[in-house]
Amino acid sequence: MNKDINKQGHFGSFGGRFVPETLIYALDELTREYSTAKKDPRFRRELSYCLSQYAGRPTPLYFASNLSRYLGRGIRVYLKREDLLHTGAHKINNTLGQVLLARRMKKTRIIAETGAGQHGVATATVAAMFGLECVIYMGTEDIKRQRLNVLRMRLLNAKIVPVKSGSRTLKDATTEALRDWVTNVGSTYYIIGSVVGPHPYPVMVRNFQSVIGKEARRQILAKEKRLPDYLIACVGGGSNSIGLFHPFFKDKKVKFIGIEAAGEGIFSGKHAATLVKGSVGVLHGAKSDVLEDKFGQINIAHSIAAGLDYPGVGPEHAFYKKIRRAEYYAVTDSQALKGFDLLSKVEGIIPALEPAHVIAYLQTRAQKLKPDSLIIVCLSGRGDKDLDIIYGR
Ligand SMILES: *Cc1c(COP(=O)(O)O)cnc(C)c1O
Repeated sequence: MNKDINKQGHFGSFGGRFVPETLIYALDELTREYSTAKKDPRFRRELSYCLSQYAGRPTPLYFASNLSRYLGRGIRVYLKREDLLHTGAHKINNTLGQVLLARRMKKTRIIAETGAGQHGVATATVAAMFGLECVIYMGTEDIKRQRLNVLRMRLLNAKIVPVKSGSRTLKDATTEALRDWVTNVGSTYYIIGSVVGPHPYPVMVRNFQSVIGKEARRQILAKEKRLPDYLIACVGGGSNSIGLFHPFFKDKKVKFIGIEAAGEGIFSGKHAATLVKGSVGVLHGAKSDVLEDKFGQINIAHSIAAGLDYPGVGPEHAFYKKIRRAEYYAVTDSQALKGFDLLSKVEGIIPALEPAHVIAYLQTRAQKLKPDSLIIVCLSGRGDKDLDIIYGR
């Protein structure tokens, strides 16, 4: 456990709990339940069974020889293939962990927010598997953009509540889900989809996603007999990246690079580059970096990748940035589309638009990395869900 976290879930000066009084009891209950479950061999066995037999872990660490050759300068890139998991992204690592907790806590109703629809699908999936009622909050803008995921969730028996307020995207869906939780806290478990929200969510989701980094560490040591020089992952809320980074936290020589969405450009006002361009503020129950205007109103984020389209970021990333444990850069929509094309063409792997930002970063800025370096990229999801966005319907 990272000793920079105190009991209230602070990462340095970030994190904490900025929520209505009615939720404090629920968050305390969750914190207690999670810390006993984490140590319970039965819970761990059950989770590890579900991850391997249902979700498809461990995922391969694939040496992308064609991409590496394309980049040149002796750079070698390994892809951590989270795209091969059931439901097509890393999100299921977290929803499986949390649904097992919900069951332990005898909750009968699951709620979640979703942007890209990937977290909604991953939540609806595990709720169906365990026979729990499931309600998903989703902005109407995202419902339009992610038609296929909406169909999937309905098929999985989830009820979708369209959210018409604000920017009609993830930020507003999260606000509505929090509101529902306040009202129905007795029967309801709220599965948050990233390392955001009030304590204990950022720590808990980080730990569930750390399976990515733990496996990658073991796999790279087996294949290369050494640790990588760089870990690179895209950052929306920050869960796939922190899941990859965290198990390497103490390996000071391993550099962490997080890639955010620059949308139409970081000076266009239409982007989601929270760490690169944001400032400290409070959003959805935690203190972190956020995108806000000079009056403290949260800005509308923009990215072609719905999963990156969020004006906040997990507090642990704000902390990593502050202590310079990680560096963050931003990649535009049009660059991401080129990365999407490149990986599809050279490796036969169609990435989700979110990790396509990482491929684009390599494509445009590999010359900034050390020659002959060994890199692990988190390929957080597959791109089937994005074909509508790229080619229209
Ligand atoms: C949701 C999503 C992301 C962004 O979320 P993080 O919490 O930052 O990981 C990235 N990639 C894919 C494929 C996603 O579905």
